[in-house]
Amino acid sequence: MPATRSEPPGFPATIPSPGSLQQLHEVMVRCTRCSLFMNRTQVVPGSGPSRPDILFVGEAPGASEDREGIPFVGRSGELLEAMLEVAGISREEVFIANVIRCRPPKNRNPRAAELRACRGWMEEQVRLLNPRIVVSLGRYALQHFVAKARVTEVQGRLRKVAYSGGEIRLLPLVHPSAVLRDPSFRPKYEEQFRRLGRLLRSGSGD
Ligand code: SF4
Repeated sequence: MPATRSEPPGFPATIPSPGSLQQLHEVMVRCTRCSLFMNRTQVVPGSGPSRPDILFVGEAPGASEDREGIPFVGRSGELLEAMLEVAGISREEVFIANVIRCRPPKNRNPRAAELRACRGWMEEQVRLLNPRIVVSLGRYALQHFVAKARVTEVQGRLRKVAYSGGEIRLLPLVHPSAVLRDPSFRPKYEEQFRRLGRLLRSGSGD
């Protein structure tokens, strides 16, 4: 997909509330609401079925994601897929997206203004996808749903949280990149994913 720079900065002024994910993504790929549009190859809206059991939410696209237009295709994506296998969850049951849709230069952390500008896209995706469980991966994803929460304090605990005028069931986990940096955490991560798989199969994710 070519770079999308045709819209003037600040497009769209208001994030739309269309009736389908496809309609939402058609506008999202033209978004210029924050300055990250200037260096991206393309917007990475997210991928997966339109009625997923789980919505995984990460931070922002990296170099591979920016190139391919798909979230979690690098090393973090490989680990996430391995964890899904451990949990007995198929890729077809999950939708994967990020709180930031355009790659920050040199993979720097997202800035507050960028997170604010991009926030409405996630709110609309959650409304349209209506997942049974939302799994946040890492700090920025968790704090999108629960301001100031710390991953180390709440990871692995399923909780109900108010979100965008409704309520979601949120399972906070660390980002796969943190497990790649510290492989000693992997057994605990695997157990957290096994529990997620059991939650889905038992119906208690409803
Ligand atoms: S990061 Fe989000 S708000 Fe910023 S340009 Fe990309 S899609 Fe738009």
